[in-house]
Amino acid sequence: MSDELYTADLEVRLRSAEAAFLLKLFRDHRTAGKQITVGMLDRDVMRAYGKNLIVMEQGEDEEFLFLFAGAEVPDDSGMPLAQKTTRNISQVTADMFRQGALEALSTLDAVFIDHATGQFAAVHRWECLFLPMDPGEGGRMVIALCIPREHKHEYMRHLLNALPCGLFRAAPTRDEHGEIVDATIRAANERAAELSGHADKEDLVGTSLRQVFGDTSSGSGWDRHLTALRTGKQQQFDYHHLGDNGSRWYQVHSVPVRDGILILMIDITEMKRTMLEAEHQKKMLLDEMEQRRALEQELWSLAHLDPLTGLPNRRAFRDSAVLKLAEAQTAHRPCAIISIDIDHFKRVNDAYGHAAGDTVLRRVVDIIKAPLRAHLDIAARMGGEEFVVLLPDTDANAAMAFAEKLRRRVEQTAVIVGEHEIRPTISLGVALNRRSSDLDDLIDRADRALYTAKRTGRNKVAIEATGGVENSDGDATAAA
Ligand code: GH3
Ligand code: MG
Ligand code: MG
Repeated sequence: MSDELYTADLEVRLRSAEAAFLLKLFRDHRTAGKQITVGMLDRDVMRAYGKNLIVMEQGEDEEFLFLFAGAEVPDDSGMPLAQKTTRNISQVTADMFRQGALEALSTLDAVFIDHATGQFAAVHRWECLFLPMDPGEGGRMVIALCIPREHKHEYMRHLLNALPCGLFRAAPTRDEHGEIVDATIRAANERAAELSGHADKEDLVGTSLRQVFGDTSSGSGWDRHLTALRTGKQQQFDYHHLGDNGSRWYQVHSVPVRDGILILMIDITEMKRTMLEAEHQKKMLLDEMEQRRALEQELWSLAHLDPLTGLPNRRAFRDSAVLKLAEAQTAHRPCAIISIDIDHFKRVNDAYGHAAGDTVLRRVVDIIKAPLRAHLDIAARMGGEEFVVLLPDTDANAAMAFAEKLRRRVEQTAVIVGEHEIRPTISLGVALNRRSSDLDDLIDRADRALYTAKRTGRNKVAIEATGGVENSDGDATAAA
């Protein structure tokens, strides 16, 4: 992060009593003309400050060997610094040591560095006092006193422990082939301990990450951490854990740092529950909407369709026929209506039963529907055994031909009911739109033609004639 190097006014700059003491010891030795050697660090000094002291010896080039290092001055990964060289530790820290020691050796005076590096769980801020030793029996040596600025640690520690999410730092454990087989938790905050079911973070540090996140086969978190460790690529996943505090969901970020990973664990159980609840509500709503749609469809069918034959009923016929007729009137196009009634249908019911009558009704409807032009012609059941067909763009001849075709097809049909063969016939009345005709008038005229067909013997087609009604089926009869 930053290094500030000072060579003057050190007495004012040094903050720690330890550094001030050692600087005074150094200056006193100088003033007294005493040699500055490792001997200066007598037993009392070592007892008081040993854990923060380092003795460095310059080797080749500008590298230094740490001949001695107190326990409070570990390397960046928390391991002992002693017997390492500036080559073996992180660049940032090595640079700081090199810079301080070289400056002290070249000025032959005390040097102070205010050193800060950023790391997980702490901003490492140190005050480092470098004291050059007088050239003597050994090589070029420097005594350094490194005092951690504790309040910074405290600040970060409180901050990290106050975080609502769990934080872990883990370093990989490798087998004899160098394969990563596990990771050891090296640091954690209090929340991490809580989330992973440990008494406190000291209890968590040193445990296996694999144990905390389950093994690979369980398809839980460990395999994702392993991926982060092996590929160096950050992983993010939702992790479900069934533990002492029930079923909980976490969002986990596994972030590769140096050789290990930093893990961020956020409890998202409430969010998940809300989401699941919302999904459930949505599904219920959709189901309800679907039911409502089906109900509306059913109601529509009940209101518009005849349940026995599936044909539109009288009301539905009126709704669409009015429009079709209006279109024909506007366009001055012909439009025909045919009224149809099954002959002596009562006898069918009487002779073979109501169910047989229903079968006949359905067969006749099939015959009526077959030649209809889709989206153009409309057929409907007007009641009982009476039907109507509206044929837009159809003149008298075409309508007669159509009606005759229906008559013949019904006549040629044998409806088999049990052992019986029923041969129904129909009578049909045809009417055409006129300049001023409305639907009721048109239906009325078709019904009158139908009446003529009935009156003149049934199984006939009759068409209204101007001033009367004509009868087809070979002979034409004048209307009464
Ligand atoms: P016509 O040739 O003069 O039309 O004689 P018809 O017997 O067909 O006429 P009528 O009006 O006397 O009888 C119609 C019969 O149709 C009476 C009724 O029971 C029967 N019917 C009406 N609706 C249904 C139905 O949905 N199913 C059955 N099976 N019969 C029905
Ligand atoms: Mg009838
Ligand atoms: Mg009838």
